[in-house]
Amino acid sequence: MSKNVADFFACDVFNDEVMKARLPKPVYKAMTKTRKMGTPLDPTYADVVANAIKDWAIEHGATHYTHWFQPMTGSTAEKHDSFISPTENGMVIMNFSGKELVKGEPDASSFPSGGLRQTCSARGYTAWDPTSYCFVKEGSLYIPTVFVSYTGEALDKKTPLLRSMDALSQQAVRILRLFGNTTTTKVTSTVGPEQEYFLIDKKMYDQREDLIMTGRTLFGAMPPKGQELEDQYFANLKPRIAAFMSDLDETLWKVGVFATTKHNEVAPAQHEMAPVFTTTNISTDQNELAMEIMEKVALKHDLVCLLHEKPFDGVNGSGKHNNWSIGTNDGQNLLDPGSTPMENMQFLTFLCAVIKGIDEYADLLRISAASAGNDHRLGANEAPPAIISIFMGEELQGVLDALEAGTSYKSESKVFEIGVDALPAFPKDSTDRNRTSPFAFTGNRFEFRMVGSSDNIGCPNFQLNTIVAGELCEIADKMENVPADKFDEELKSLLVSIIKEHKRIIFNGNGYSQEWVEEAEKRGLPNYKSTVDCVPHYADAKNVALFEKFGVLSKAEIDARAEIQLENYAKTINIEALTMIDMAKKKYIPTCIAYSKELCDTISAKKALDICTSVETDIAKKITALTKQAYEATSKLEEVTAKASAIETSAEDMAKSYRFDVIPVMDELRAAVDALEVITPSEKWPVPAYSDIIFNV
Ligand code: ADP
Ligand code: MG
Repeated sequence: MSKNVADFFACDVFNDEVMKARLPKPVYKAMTKTRKMGTPLDPTYADVVANAIKDWAIEHGATHYTHWFQPMTGSTAEKHDSFISPTENGMVIMNFSGKELVKGEPDASSFPSGGLRQTCSARGYTAWDPTSYCFVKEGSLYIPTVFVSYTGEALDKKTPLLRSMDALSQQAVRILRLFGNTTTTKVTSTVGPEQEYFLIDKKMYDQREDLIMTGRTLFGAMPPKGQELEDQYFANLKPRIAAFMSDLDETLWKVGVFATTKHNEVAPAQHEMAPVFTTTNISTDQNELAMEIMEKVALKHDLVCLLHEKPFDGVNGSGKHNNWSIGTNDGQNLLDPGSTPMENMQFLTFLCAVIKGIDEYADLLRISAASAGNDHRLGANEAPPAIISIFMGEELQGVLDALEAGTSYKSESKVFEIGVDALPAFPKDSTDRNRTSPFAFTGNRFEFRMVGSSDNIGCPNFQLNTIVAGELCEIADKMENVPADKFDEELKSLLVSIIKEHKRIIFNGNGYSQEWVEEAEKRGLPNYKSTVDCVPHYADAKNVALFEKFGVLSKAEIDARAEIQLENYAKTINIEALTMIDMAKKKYIPTCIAYSKELCDTISAKKALDICTSVETDIAKKITALTKQAYEATSKLEEVTAKASAIETSAEDMAKSYRFDVIPVMDELRAAVDALEVITPSEKWPVPAYSDIIFNV
């Protein structure tokens, strides 16, 4: 059976093609200008657009519409209103005005504002983002929107992203003008996020309170086999997984998500989906949509999709590689070195802006990937270390070295030799891969690998955009007034000074090694091990200055974001600790008491017959001792959790208490329970074991 994706791709999206067919010409033209150039839409056109969207949406099964936004909670938000409007004869007509399309007013009071609301007002507004397409899903028209407070402060993840895209475009165009480019009018950041996830059987999931409450297992002894054979990576897809993936693709394609790559990942039960890259704004929306759809499609297959960064201890966790680049509206990728990077001064200028930016604002990138879940990954030798550094690769490193030394560099065109004549020859990539680097140049883009699997990618991308905008602005300020006959020489000397000053951020070696940790410290690079170590730096003076300069975030908005991030951290650990206490008290400890009673009954019976051996007493003693440990750790955990949750001084103090007082006790409790698990008969154990969960699908 043939299947041409082009026949049904984006069939539920109000995209350019639909707009062209359904909007009057001048309105379509204005919409295109708004989408492509960011010019505001004439308000009188809003009614026309709204009406066309409504008719189209109804034809596609929608009875409702919703403003769709990305508040500071972990997921997207939606509130559905119908198109119905009562008529005098007791019937309804379907109505949708420009006003309803453009603006919404959800009750903002229950969304986290990080203190912004007390200083402003409880009102919050959603405003239509015409740069991302509307779509129909489950009987509703989804309208991508930003979410801001009454006084215009960002209460969401999208507003700063859009602001940062404008800033980056303006500054990048200034640089392009320096090189004589007169045609480019807009530069856009692009991203392709590789989404990792786990799939497990729903029956197993339903029996684990920890998975249900927290998205990860809080207990669980390692099975005899983990991922050491590396037999899961790129392995042949099992039928149930293949069926899920193909259902997922189709569902994503219908709503216009460019899903393209799918494969098994390193850990048992772990997989990946990557879309074709697009603008950071659309890609962020699409990634949010993809995560939601993954969870829903999994349920249709009696599976549960886990997006947590560390669902299982002892095997790899999940990240989201954020492939980021910048491109012009006439099709040029500004991070493409071309075949002779040494001569490509424009490319080297953008490259040096990135190098300097990442060195100066490493803390911001680290913060953009900080969460309770991701703390389990970063620095744990499966994911990039918590230290930010750039992997440049052999060729570009050669170019940078030559530039710094004032020598020449000859790019070799390398052809790959396989040694079998019948196989086609192909050119060798200019960079090898370095999986251990958090920020790696991969040929024509940078891959930021710290991002957690459940993160909204708006955050890392607005940080990246703003950081690079800042550096491009500095370079443009310096170079714009340089006379043409001095331009080349001055630019070269500026780039050399940037390389000299910031090359400490470049590291091409093994990021997992202990030597790198020591070396990085010598170089003065920050190593923020956890969320609570880095987030307080959000509002450092240099960061506030950068965000305020480009109007991406105000000081108040930064403070709010830091506070929400820390609060979120504290709440997450609090839920985890309470879940552990609950499971220990209601499941593990009673099970172990019952088992030791059974052993003791056996011992008494055997003693009566004089056939008792040390086996039963040994096991009974171990179970009793470990149960005592588990019981004591549970009591201690209750105590430290209550203490942490009562802290009122600041979100930072509270988060720190969870990090340093609560987590160590959680570890103690887990150690005792996991030790009990390995000496208790599996049919007595009250929850499915790791081996049942990750090798089961
Ligand atoms: P890997 O081989 O690193 O696992 P994948 O093929 O899984 O890579 O994913 C690479 C991602 O990078 C894809 O989403 C791809 O669309 C994206 N990508 C490619 N070029 C660019 C670019 N210029 N800007 C942003 N992302 C890009
Ligand atoms: Mg990758």
